[in-house]
Amino acid sequence: MDMTEGGSAEMAVNRKGPVAKDAVTAVQAGLAAWTLLFLTFATFGPWFHIGVAYALTSGALLLSLVSLYLADRGYHSVWRNPGTRGVAHSGLAVALGLPALVVAAGYLGLHIAFLLPLVLVFFMIALVLGLVVFSERATARARGENFFRDWFDAPSQTSACGYCGDRTPLTQGRWARNRWLCPTCSTAFPGGLA
Ligand SMILES: [Zn+2]
Repeated sequence: MDMTEGGSAEMAVNRKGPVAKDAVTAVQAGLAAWTLLFLTFATFGPWFHIGVAYALTSGALLLSLVSLYLADRGYHSVWRNPGTRGVAHSGLAVALGLPALVVAAGYLGLHIAFLLPLVLVFFMIALVLGLVVFSERATARARGENFFRDWFDAPSQTSACGYCGDRTPLTQGRWARNRWLCPTCSTAFPGGLA
């Protein structure tokens, strides 16, 4: 077998497979978040009630986080499972979820920050730490997924193990954290490899 040939081209043109479930749910969560935000805006005026507004925007905040989390999972599941789709769905979910997060967090945050400045400081520190952890995780994941894709061979439906490099059928290999492993290596590293 020609080990120098990558399979990303074959994967890129596959538009027939099923859409990753997480990516579809992510879009639905994003739409639900916006529904709650519009309901909040609809109560502005004579029907405004601060408790209801807090409840609705808190719900929108939660749903936007769910939509971003699932969009991320759906996007990576597409790269890890040749023959599935969902990158566009994940992109749409981010386009819905991210602005919903900003609007909901802005609405809630402005109220809370004025009452408790310490909450704002804590939130900023948590945000910076979160970004650092996320970017390190993303780098490790991208490394494993690129390796899998580079060695993926569409005709034989195999790829190379992320640890020992042995060619393994897709049906036998397994994603363990950030690497795709052959049965031997996935038994040797039950917790997966970074
Ligand atoms: Zn192996």
